[in-house]
Amino acid sequence: MIMEATLKKYFGYSFFRPYQKEIIEQILSGRDSLVVMATGSGKSLCYQIPSLISGKTAVVVSPLLALMQDQVMSLKQRGVKAEYIGSSQTNSAVYGNAESGQFDIVYMTPERACSLPSRFWSNLLNVGICLLAVDEAHCISEWGHDFRKEYKQLDKLRGILLDVPVIALTATATDKVRLDITNSLEMNDPFIAIGSFDRENLFYGVKCCGRGLPLVDELVGEVSKHVASSSSTIVYCTTIKDTEQIFMSLKEAGIKAAIYHGQMANKAREESHRSFIRDELLVMVATVAFGMGVDKSNIRCVIHYGCPKSVETYYQESGRCGRDGLASTCWLYYSRSDFAKADFYCREAKTESHKKAIMESLKAAEHYCSLVTCRRKFLLDYFGEKIAANNCGGCDNCTNSKTERDMSREAYLLLSSVQSSGGRWGINMPIDILRGSRSKKVREFQFDKLPLHGLGKDHPSNWWKALADQLIANGYLTETFKDIYRAVSVSKKGVQFLSTATPDRQQPLVLAVTSEMDE
Ligand code: ADP
Ligand code: ZN
Repeated sequence: MIMEATLKKYFGYSFFRPYQKEIIEQILSGRDSLVVMATGSGKSLCYQIPSLISGKTAVVVSPLLALMQDQVMSLKQRGVKAEYIGSSQTNSAVYGNAESGQFDIVYMTPERACSLPSRFWSNLLNVGICLLAVDEAHCISEWGHDFRKEYKQLDKLRGILLDVPVIALTATATDKVRLDITNSLEMNDPFIAIGSFDRENLFYGVKCCGRGLPLVDELVGEVSKHVASSSSTIVYCTTIKDTEQIFMSLKEAGIKAAIYHGQMANKAREESHRSFIRDELLVMVATVAFGMGVDKSNIRCVIHYGCPKSVETYYQESGRCGRDGLASTCWLYYSRSDFAKADFYCREAKTESHKKAIMESLKAAEHYCSLVTCRRKFLLDYFGEKIAANNCGGCDNCTNSKTERDMSREAYLLLSSVQSSGGRWGINMPIDILRGSRSKKVREFQFDKLPLHGLGKDHPSNWWKALADQLIANGYLTETFKDIYRAVSVSKKGVQFLSTATPDRQQPLVLAVTSEMDE
């Protein structure tokens, strides 16, 4: 009962949410825990309550100063003794009080945690540490969407706080990331709590188009629908330039929006943030800089303009709508050119293996775009969660009647072109060959002499690329990465298809017709 009493006393709640109680019990019994639960599900309580029960200090590592400040402020209001140790200039009273165990909860950045002198830790250990919490724990992993080097060094801290249970928390993590977290923190037989990733009230949809006006028109149309019903929308753009462009397009359409990106002055950014949170402006156009700590429950729609860099970030950003449980919509608008941004994203690569991870992430995000099956199933699969139904009724692919067509001849041409050009190029080369290109490269390799050169002129490149996506998705083509370059080759299944086919006769091959293939 002491747990419920503590929950009531400090937080005013009568019941624990799923997993909270078990996690707290495990921590109190000294067991390491890994908590993977959606934003807003109440993870913070899991490391806050143990200190209030045990009377020992909880040490919390968190990546952002602003987040720590918010948490500390709201804890203080509830009568919890909380502080954060920020930069090295933190006043010595806070430092001294922290060291002598005067606080229930002490927050710090990973840099700070690793640079505190060992005397600090031995003093605090003497008076008692109930847990070491690592918030946003996916930052530890190169496979996460927000890898931070400082997080990697937290194992040092683990070495100092030998018998202190560690609790790692994150809102998104794949199997790989989970394993990285438990390994990096040297977790010992951890208790693992994984909440469901299924957001039943969200509808997922994707639209594809050239980067020109039509897509922007669609976007403005969608946004104005939400504005008309007085509900809030976030439009996420991949670049600051796009952010400004969309902001202008909305303005021209008479829609007032807030804008938010990393190059704005702090004050203007805060002002934007505030006017959106307070419903003074219903639309926020932003880069991903508008993110962590966005606490607004009645957002009805999140639109991504441009394919995001990973499925994790997409899930997290789109998940900012519908926190209140009401029906909300997540649109992703992309164009083919989004997929040529590998260079741009790889600039942030910190190591070779990190680069590989970035490429894999991009590939998965791209895959989400070109999906013709249930998007929810894909997202849940990605996080290792199975759903039984093949039709969720809550995504464009499940609700639209799909058109399918026998594309055996086109598939035959594309597969043959990939094979004849050696299976070592990206998809552009085999498509150029089909479209009859006489570029320098094509001539250099004498691909213009191939019998199928020019046989695919009647479809534009993007049509062929969409077909290639389908052939990859259905296992006829295999895509691999070499550094940031991709190579497409014919898979075993594809070879089998080719082996029974002649130029005039192929086995039927029925594929979904995506919007890019509409004619
Ligand atoms: P997370 O860290 O998972 O994003 P938070 O810990 O910030 O989530 O909690 C989200 C909200 O849910 C907070 O307002 C918190 O006070 C509230 N909350 C947490 N646990 C409970 C509970 N047992 N009953 C009711 N509300 C809760
Ligand atoms: Zn679906």
